[in-house]
This record gives sequence, structure tokens and C-alpha cells, in this order.
Amino acid sequence: MPLSDIKDRIAKEEARVGRAPGSTTLIAVSKEQPLDRVVAVLEEGHRVFGENKVQEAVGKWPDLKQRFAGVELHLIGPLQSNKTRQAMGLFDVIHSVDRPKLARTIARIAEEEGHCPTLFIQVNTGEEPQKAGIMPDDLDAFVNECRDLALPVVGLMCIPPVDEEPSLHFALLAKMAARNGLKQLSMGMSSDFERAIAQGATFVRVGSAIFGDRDYG
Ligand SMILES: *Cc1c(COP(=O)(O)O)cnc(C)c1O
Repeated sequence: MPLSDIKDRIAKEEARVGRAPGSTTLIAVSKEQPLDRVVAVLEEGHRVFGENKVQEAVGKWPDLKQRFAGVELHLIGPLQSNKTRQAMGLFDVIHSVDRPKLARTIARIAEEEGHCPTLFIQVNTGEEPQKAGIMPDDLDAFVNECRDLALPVVGLMCIPPVDEEPSLHFALLAKMAARNGLKQLSMGMSSDFERAIAQGATFVRVGSAIFGDRDYG
């Protein structure tokens, strides 16, 4: 589906639920996509992209950032402590801050480098053992810990369990963000971004609906 169709669907949903036009930012998730598809979307003028692996992003984005001015790059996948410095050098926004040790590592590197990306805390709203994200019960304390470290946390991110109604998870995330005075919500993917917008998403992360199926080969 072309980029313009996704943008139309976002605009329609914003209007339907009474949200301000343009209050949702579309992150085009380019992970595992052939380079020519990514370049085509850049040539259409889109500048906000998401990747879920540091290594893969390091392989393609420094060059693409040189070729296309104004790219804003979001890390939406889990971050290992030993890749933190590299990630902080490349990404403008990190959506996957999910544990105190990582928060402390980011704070230390931010001090050393004099620069910190904008941050989201990932919440494991479904409390799934295999999934990244801080548990809902631990969130409020973790937000305070990040604030004590002076980290620029602006919002929350979640990936709902595949077999549950995502709207319930989106609503829960919105409630947790409001309770903590956080304004940004990173939620919604190809299959459910309209439902996320209805629940207040300010960032939707859409991959396959824009680029086509990923090459898992
Ligand atoms: C891959 C990915 C997406 C995009 O998924 P699609 O279903 O292709 O839209 C969104 N968020 C995260 C965290 C992802 O890893």
C-alpha cells in the first residue's frame, strides 16, 4: 500500500475520533526491507523511520542520512547494554528503555557524550515472559528513577500480545502515561494503527503496510 494511503488512513482516523490533524507521527519501519523500497519512500519525502536492530541500522542509515537531509531515526527494538553507545550515536529516538541498568548506562553515556536521544519507556502490558518491556507494576518507580537520572523520557511504548485485542493494551498504556505526566504514546503497527490512534497514539510504527512483506530469508 502506498505511503499516501497510510497517511490518508491516519488523517481519517484522527478526524473520526476528534484528534487534531497531524497529531500522529508515522514511523515507517524499514527493518529487513530491500534498500530500493526504503529509498523510494525517502524520495517521496518521508523522513521518519524505525529500525529494530542496531546492527542492521548501522549498516544502512549513515549512508542514507548523508543522501537525504532531515532523517529522524527511531530505535523500536530491544537495546543491549553493549550496543548503547552506538545506538545513541545513530538514533534520534529510542523507544525501548525497559530496565534500570539500561537507564543508568544511557545516563552515563549521555554525560560523557553531552548528548542524549529522546526516550520512550517500553511497557510489557501483556506481562509476557518472553517479551521486552518493564512490568506495569514497576513502571511508576522506573519513571521516577529515569527522572532522577535527568533522562529525556517523553512517553511510553508497547507491543500488545498477538492474540489479544490491542485496544485494551493501548488504553492501558494511555492511562499509565497520563498517570505519570507523559504526553507521547508509541503504539500501533500495520494491523492496528487506527485502533491505536483512537486510543491516543502520537507515534504509530508501520512497516509491512507501507513497504510490503519483509524478506525473512
Ligand atoms: C516490526 C515492528 C513494527 C512494524 O510491524 P508491521 O506489522 O510490519 O507494521 C512495529 N513495531 C515494532 C517494535 C516492530 O519490531
